[in-house]
Amino acid sequence: MPSHSEHAEVIVVGGGPVGALAALQLAQAGRQVLLLEARARDEIVADTRAVALSWHSQQQLAAAGAWSAALPATFIDRVHVSQQGCFGRTLIQREDLQLPHLGVVVDYPLLLASLQRALEHSGVQLRWQSRVQAVQSLSQYASVQLSSPQGSSTRLTARLVVLAEGGTLAEQLPGIRRLQHDYQQCALLAQLSTEQAPQGIAYERFADDGPLALLPHGDGFMLVWTRSAADAAALQQADEATVLAALQAAVGERHGRLLALGARSSFPLVLRQLNRVVSGRVVMIGNAAQTLHPVAAQGLNLGIRDAGGLLAALADARDPGAATVLAHYAVSRQRDSRAVVGFTHGLIKLFEQQPPLLKGLRGMGMNALDLLPPLRRKFAEHLVFGVSA
Ligand SMILES: Cc1cc2nc3c(=O)[nH]c(=O)nc-3n(C[C@H](O)[C@H](O)[C@H](O)COP(=O)(O)OP(=O)(O)OC[C@H]3O[C@@H](n4cnc5c(N)ncnc54)[C@H](O)[C@@H]3O)c2cc1C
Repeated sequence: MPSHSEHAEVIVVGGGPVGALAALQLAQAGRQVLLLEARARDEIVADTRAVALSWHSQQQLAAAGAWSAALPATFIDRVHVSQQGCFGRTLIQREDLQLPHLGVVVDYPLLLASLQRALEHSGVQLRWQSRVQAVQSLSQYASVQLSSPQGSSTRLTARLVVLAEGGTLAEQLPGIRRLQHDYQQCALLAQLSTEQAPQGIAYERFADDGPLALLPHGDGFMLVWTRSAADAAALQQADEATVLAALQAAVGERHGRLLALGARSSFPLVLRQLNRVVSGRVVMIGNAAQTLHPVAAQGLNLGIRDAGGLLAALADARDPGAATVLAHYAVSRQRDSRAVVGFTHGLIKLFEQQPPLLKGLRGMGMNALDLLPPLRRKFAEHLVFGVSA
């Protein structure tokens, strides 16, 4: 089998939204970047996710040339948070932060396509159908071993390797351990038509059988319903009327009648987090560093801030893989990452129990947030901009 070797200044492994954005940003900052992506260039990405991006994330994508007004996206102007069967609610509005909108919802494949278009005019060297099998860090450079569909094996070296492949390779590196919690839950996704158009509102509803989000998506909503793995499988098989009735009971009548449900799909949910995001000349960002429950719609937003943090840490660095540079990156991202992982996991734990007293306390908490504008603004600020170091 043929094998050859090449060198780049920075290698980014994984052309998902986080890796693609990081590659674009680093190339714009004058770095010589090689992006390695496992899928083929023209492969149709069959992923039913629609992701809610904060206003800040959208700005980062726009600055990198990967967001255009032509991209089909739906604005979020308000987020309504409530729980089933109990008083109390919080309404976060764009006016709280004086922003044009709080965020946007976009289909994951459309976001990838937009990033791909930007990459193709960016100077980033792209290698599709390049699945990295192994990664290693040495004192002067790091290396990756990749395989092509033809069976050839190539070793590439770089001053810095950025792992953004969603979380399969980091554990090969010294000192890296992955902490994992399986929620034993799945997210059930489907397009939902309702009597009233969404008009910019997103719902976060802590229903008795699991939290659900309704994200404004075109004329209707994208449903993200967290259920036990067994429930999700049953709901995927059940007829539409049965699912709509269960959903209507969980959501209530606040948005009128639920009319129709599109094709359903389901994603298993786990929390994964690394003990460290740097090993030698290799850094992990996005899902490769932390994979979250989607309840608070924070995973990609956090990954986008990872990419921004890396760009900032590397500014003016002669050697992008130098230990001091990467240590600075790791420290700069610790607070945001820990806060968002803790908040997301805490939400699941807080709302999974249903004793009436706890429900009442949660309701009071939501009302307090709603009635105290400075607190609500701070909370909204963290959701949109993250937690600064
Ligand atoms: C149901 C659901 C709903 C969600 N909703 C939201 C939301 O509303 N808002 C939000 O912020 N987040 C949301 N998330 C989280 C979000 O989808 C992820 O955080 C985001 O996709 C992470 O991006 P990434 O680029 O780090 O990884 P990925 O999206 O996993 O991309 C990894 C890329 O690496 C490539 N790859 C993998 N292995 C290799 C390899 N060995 N070599 C080369 N390439 C490789 C893959 O082909 C892929 O292109 C949701 C997640 C789920 C499951």
